[in-house]
Amino acid sequence: SDSPVLYRRVMLKLSGEALMGDLDYGIEPKVIKRIAHEIAEVQKLGIEVALVIGGGNIFRGAGLAGAGMDRVTGDHMGMLATVMNSLAIQDALEQMNVYARVMSALKIHEVCEDYIRRRAIRHLEKGRVVILAAGTGNPFFTTDTAASLRAIEIGADVLMKATMVGGVYDMDPKTNANASLFDTVSFDKVLIDKLQVMDATAVVMCRDNNLPLRVFSMNEDNALVRAMTDKEVGTLVTA
Ligand code: UDP
Repeated sequence: SDSPVLYRRVMLKLSGEALMGDLDYGIEPKVIKRIAHEIAEVQKLGIEVALVIGGGNIFRGAGLAGAGMDRVTGDHMGMLATVMNSLAIQDALEQMNVYARVMSALKIHEVCEDYIRRRAIRHLEKGRVVILAAGTGNPFFTTDTAASLRAIEIGADVLMKATMVGGVYDMDPKTNANASLFDTVSFDKVLIDKLQVMDATAVVMCRDNNLPLRVFSMNEDNALVRAMTDKEVGTLVTA
């Protein structure tokens, strides 16, 4: 189609759970192929794509701490989980002949490159998908915060947060049949009403640095291309 491309460079945030499909742990190969295919389609539109993937399908630090582990150790394990997810997406993209580079906030040189801002931008300019692994590299943060931080650093036009629901609602749509979807909502309303979008640190990073955030569902066919070409998809969060 001749759909207009709305962005030049995007940061896409996927939760680890998006990779699970019908499994209750780990990575479902069919799902990762579908996601890689959708990313490849976005790239064909000429959009530069940076990606942050969570680790919640494997480990979360808070969950491990709840079971008695030291929190910082748990967060290290959570960050390493995001490296595994990132490698899986890199592999799936390369099998579709899309060049991709995992860049990690923790140094694991035998496995992937380090995150170096200028090098990440260079990869994007050359048309490579950049997969930013290990979150921010610090415990007590989330991959949502990593996505907002890196989006700002690399000059992304928008942070696209893929979720399992249609966008931002006034109530939890999973438990309230009457929940209604916002077309647009402000960062301050998200924070004051504690709307479930991202953690407050990530929301504040976007707000204070004028980075628009679009929240949309990954559960539709062609979800990514639609989100990149249609202003009506999901919820736009702005100042
Ligand atoms: N994590 C961290 N620092 C970061 C990003 C992530 O310590 O900057 C750890 C944290 O334990 C977190 C886990 O990695 O629970 C997985 O990330 P997240 O929970 O954000 O994944 P998602 O919910 O998106 O799957």
